[in-house]
Amino acid sequence: MTAAHHIEQSPWERVQERLRNKFGEAAYNSWLKPLNIETTSNNCLYITVPTRFMKDWVNTYYLDKIRDYYLEEDKSVSDVQIKVKASAMPVAEKTETDSENISSKKITPLTPKDPFDKKEAKSFLTESVNASLDPRFTFDNFVVGKPNELAHAAARRVAEADNVPFNPLFLYGGVGLGKTHLMHAIAWQIKKINPTRKVIYLSAEKFMYAFVRALRFKDTMAFKELFRSVDVLMIDDVQFIAGKDSTQEEFFHTFNALVDQNRQVVISADKSPSDLEGIEERMKSRLGWGLVADIHPTTYELRLGILQSKAELAQTSVDPQVIEFLAHKITSNIRELEGALNRLIAHATLVGKRITLDVAQDVLRDILRANDRRVTIDDIQKRVAEHFNIRISDMHSVRRARNVARPRQIAMYLCKTLTPKSLPEIGRQFGGRDHTTVLYAIKKVEELKSQDKTIMEDIELLSRMLEYR
Ligand code: ADP
Ligand code: MG
Repeated sequence: MTAAHHIEQSPWERVQERLRNKFGEAAYNSWLKPLNIETTSNNCLYITVPTRFMKDWVNTYYLDKIRDYYLEEDKSVSDVQIKVKASAMPVAEKTETDSENISSKKITPLTPKDPFDKKEAKSFLTESVNASLDPRFTFDNFVVGKPNELAHAAARRVAEADNVPFNPLFLYGGVGLGKTHLMHAIAWQIKKINPTRKVIYLSAEKFMYAFVRALRFKDTMAFKELFRSVDVLMIDDVQFIAGKDSTQEEFFHTFNALVDQNRQVVISADKSPSDLEGIEERMKSRLGWGLVADIHPTTYELRLGILQSKAELAQTSVDPQVIEFLAHKITSNIRELEGALNRLIAHATLVGKRITLDVAQDVLRDILRANDRRVTIDDIQKRVAEHFNIRISDMHSVRRARNVARPRQIAMYLCKTLTPKSLPEIGRQFGGRDHTTVLYAIKKVEELKSQDKTIMEDIELLSRMLEYR
């Protein structure tokens, strides 16, 4: 048994973790985390949900992936299905009936409640808003560095200004870089400074759910009133409403109504307004009217800072060496970086031993492998051949014509700078050339680089493309 196996997870937990990575925190918390599973009968795993509506929703957006993942994790299961099961419902078939279907007099008081009947509308949303604010996502816990300093400063302004400094604040960036964290931090800070201000934070998915629900129960008034009465509205992961036309329409109206009344709106997305696909032009342009702040991929310094701060918060002393190692190796995003650190801390607590570099490497083997995006010699040959419009086979051939020899030398040079391969190893992969040939190529390219601006630019461009594939 290797060290990594000390932390056992059930197949369902592993599936949930993958779903979370796949769909992101907001979708995960709203739809996937609350799912229950029932023991399988005839090799079929049942996922139970409380309403028909939720069944349709999960079916439409998530079931395929849930099934794929589950079948991979648990070979004894051959299918995954969703069942409605309202825990308070005595008659099984009743659960399959919509609550709006009141033509039959047999409806009991146990009918699932419609969260948008007038009285419930408010509590439904207030609840979902308050429940979804993560207490750890505060400004105090947010580590500021070059990649996120603009977004952070803008978020603080919005939280602390007396008036509306810019509208909307549009935060965008890749997965796991801190968008949700910043939005929650804004909400916490406003609550702290002025608890009477009404702040609503929700994912675009929840917004859509609430809206569709309101339409379904023909009560869009409560919906409109609620959303248009807030001081600050924050909608997370707005890319989710791409292509969902009626939700977009409603969102657009809500958005305009709020902005017109000088209420603060904060939006996050995975892309800039103009790069969002499936969003109407007028909407895109309106989204870009305020301040657009992007969160860039992490730098080594930021990763280091975050790890140190998280280790401190967890009150665990982790070897500086291990922290540096993680900051070097786990470059994908902050969520993953955090996950790695948490796993190490859990491990240390369980086995009661100090975390050394060896232990870290062992415990995190899978994560490290996934982050190892090292460029290969093949990648380089392919890219360079493409760039200079020659055949890949020319990388291995003996042809000495300048138009193939030069690109080949550049490829060798890039292999030396971008991979840890030795000169003989590089030579072997270029048609069995000698290491002195490789050395000569590297010297030659270095010389050319300093004399010829075009070559220098070619090389820079190629390196960049290869490093950020
Ligand atoms: P996103 O919404 O952009 O996908 P999140 O806000 O959910 O990302 O961040 C992912 C995880 O990384 C969260 O646990 C969050 O607390 C953490 N995180 C992100 N940025 C920072 C930061 N600058 N300082 C500390 N923790 C951060
Ligand atoms: Mg998020």
